Amino acid sequence: MSNIKYNLIDRTEPVVLKENLGFGNHFTDHVFEMDYTPEKGWHNAIITRLDKLEFHHATTFMHYGQTIFEGLKAYYTPNGEIQLFRPEKNMERLNKSAKRLCMPEVDIAFAVEALKELVAIEKDWVPKNYLDSLYVRPFMIGTDSLLGVKPSTAYKFIILLSPVGAYYPEGFKPIKIMIQEDYVRAVRKGLGECKTAANYASSLLGAEIARKMGYTQCLWLDAVELKYIEEVGTMNIFIRFNDEVATPALTGGILHGITRLSTIQLLKDMGYNLVERLISVDELVSRYEKGEVLEVFGTGTAAVISSVGEIKFRDNILKLTKDNQPGELATKLFDELSGIQRGTIPDRHNWIQKVDVEVTA
Ligand SMILES: *Cc1c(COP(=O)(O)O)cnc(C)c1O
Repeated sequence: MSNIKYNLIDRTEPVVLKENLGFGNHFTDHVFEMDYTPEKGWHNAIITRLDKLEFHHATTFMHYGQTIFEGLKAYYTPNGEIQLFRPEKNMERLNKSAKRLCMPEVDIAFAVEALKELVAIEKDWVPKNYLDSLYVRPFMIGTDSLLGVKPSTAYKFIILLSPVGAYYPEGFKPIKIMIQEDYVRAVRKGLGECKTAANYASSLLGAEIARKMGYTQCLWLDAVELKYIEEVGTMNIFIRFNDEVATPALTGGILHGITRLSTIQLLKDMGYNLVERLISVDELVSRYEKGEVLEVFGTGTAAVISSVGEIKFRDNILKLTKDNQPGELATKLFDELSGIQRGTIPDRHNWIQKVDVEVTA
């Protein structure tokens, strides 16, 4: 692209052939970066080597938390193309997070182009194995160096790439989650709708406690009444009752998941009675006891669709799958969505954007 500079290094050997990539352990040779100042706006756009960043000890993001991020994936298709799933949605959400945290917005079209350019340059790092993909992590931080609680004036926007395998160690096996009542993740009118570091910092202790008790993740409740189910912290949640598929309404404390949005569309396409509404823990437990809870699953870029095998709430253990096999609807949705993402199922909704791998610097 015309206004991106390039500082490319000799390539290192991509790790994409590794059996077990894990999640977030490997990084490609290059990143995209640009800087913001009030005078110049966004400038210094460059694709450069992944290296250390140097910051003054008083850099504001380290003290006051102005950091926002996104997560999406690039996939290798059977006919050798590389494609992205709804990348402009991620940049729209980044801008939404930016507004809430008094950070500058990016030009969505430019950010998506920069992302495609970077992925094209790193095309050899896009894993070809089924279930593997290239995780794309755009993020923004406040870079003024001073102490004092006020918005930074300068910012850095970076796109980092990481070839990844399955998000959960369980792979596509059902996960176990625990309803957390002692801590909350995010509160409506707070930062719950933003992909910002604070929400993840806030979730760590509850999640550690859950992990020690043998659960993969927490299912978080609304922070005001501790009554309604919100989300899992990296995934939105869906419950298939006998007469509907329900997912918590976006009341302010929940991230607007792009996988959630896409899953809602697919469920409507499939003819399910999809409802966005408040779902209380009491309803979940009492309807489980009546045999009306058929299936629970989470949705998120990292794991796509994750079947939930067990939910713990106080002394209640809700068993949701048989023989450790993923639920029927979760499997159907996983196949459909990852088929679209990987180019094996037609993209009826125009969700896919191709990366032009012929473009080189
Ligand atoms: C990223 C994320 C999700 C999933 O969002 P997608 O856009 O589907 O990847 C859900 N909840 C939280 C808190 C998240 O950070």
